Amino acid sequence: MDLSIIGSGYVGLVTGACFADVGHNVICVDNDLRKVEALQAGKVPIFEPGLEEVIHRNVSAHRLSFTGSVQEAVNNSQIVFIAVPTPQQPNGDVDLSFIEKVAREIAGVLTDYRVIVDKSTVPVKTGEKVAESIKRYNRHGAKFDVVSNPEFLREGCAIADLMHPDRIVIGAQSEHAIDLMKKVYEPFMAPILVTDINSAELIKHAANSFLALKISYINAVSAICEASGANVEKVADGIGMDRRIGRNFLNAGIGYGGSCFPKDIAAFITISEQLGVPFNLLKEVQQINGAQKERFLKTIRETLWVLREKKIAVWGLTFKPDTDDIRSSVAIDLVADMLREGAQVTAYDPKGMEKAREVKAIAGVKFASSAIEATEGAEALIIATEWTEFANVDLSVIKEKMTTPIIFDGRNMFNPETMGQLGFRYHSIGRSSVTPR
Ligand code: NAD
Repeated sequence: MDLSIIGSGYVGLVTGACFADVGHNVICVDNDLRKVEALQAGKVPIFEPGLEEVIHRNVSAHRLSFTGSVQEAVNNSQIVFIAVPTPQQPNGDVDLSFIEKVAREIAGVLTDYRVIVDKSTVPVKTGEKVAESIKRYNRHGAKFDVVSNPEFLREGCAIADLMHPDRIVIGAQSEHAIDLMKKVYEPFMAPILVTDINSAELIKHAANSFLALKISYINAVSAICEASGANVEKVADGIGMDRRIGRNFLNAGIGYGGSCFPKDIAAFITISEQLGVPFNLLKEVQQINGAQKERFLKTIRETLWVLREKKIAVWGLTFKPDTDDIRSSVAIDLVADMLREGAQVTAYDPKGMEKAREVKAIAGVKFASSAIEATEGAEALIIATEWTEFANVDLSVIKEKMTTPIIFDGRNMFNPETMGQLGFRYHSIGRSSVTPR
């Protein structure tokens, strides 16, 4: 099929590449012309495992191309996907101006029937607004259908998630549009759930909120574990072995971050309030998430006493491993907090440093070229993102490099007992701290 995707970021680019990989002809559009030029020149502007290879393969096969022109994309595709940002406004509302602009642009160049699919995460009832907007600016009176097709990919394993999704949600009114959408997804051989547009939009916010709730649940349990001497990993195993609950998203840590959970939970709270049915449980989810980072900082402060002039190494800046995405990363917030208190922070991240260099809030941070180098002369090491690379570092070398071997592990990467035996003072989340043996 001939498809186009407007917005070539983490979602649009990966979706476009995977659609092309199953045999569709795909045009990816972006209004950031530097991004388009880079892609046309064979450079992939984001890091996502396996993405570069899939893009190159499909560009060579002439199934995937890039442009800055919405008109070119709309003219040459049966279905137009929208994957532009839907960021949070300061008051918690979702900023829908990107979606509205794209809807107007599509309407302006629509001459024949097209299916317009919203892939961005949007508040329930946005599809109605998109349809109204297209109708208003549709100069040629062309026919169209609007579909909601929320995206569930996870950065870091986005290709696998797209190629083997748990489910495809198609929210639509028109049978014709549903048939076309089913054809798009046929090669993926995944379960398809067809709903009305409002339900499809709501599924995305409800799913992300539930996952965030699971994280906050185990994080709240981790605080109780610390206070009682229990071990949150064992508790999570014990809960997670119950198939009704499952072990996924039960890893205690310093809280969720990233470009989706914080904004989507805030959006769902606002949406529910605007609909007159406040979802107060989600406010507690947010509160627990923020408190988790603060509790971690409190442990750091209590152990190091004052942070001013302390040399602190930080491993990990991205919001999760296997991505270069640092948007709303708790690791970045932690570094910013410690810099404000006068600490001398040296950070290392396998993929996130290029983007982190541009973040004003952490302008005072030094960047190391390896995990080991970051710990040179450090009085404490903070593990903020669980990159596999960190698990493979020789900890005896780290101990030699550090002035005082104290580790604050915000992602429970290591076994406390082993750390004590290796001679570290080791603090983690929801598990008893250990001192050197
Ligand atoms: P992103 O910022 O990585 O990419 C968005 C792209 O859209 C950018 O390249 C931007 O230049 C482009 N753009 C903005 N306005 C445009 C316009 N008028 N015309 C053409 N291009 C335009 O964002 P993302 O992470 O891909 O997220 C996109 C949407 O998908 C959001 O609603 C997000 O909540 C949702 N989502 C994201 C993820 C994720 O893991 N990142 C997962 C599921 C859903």
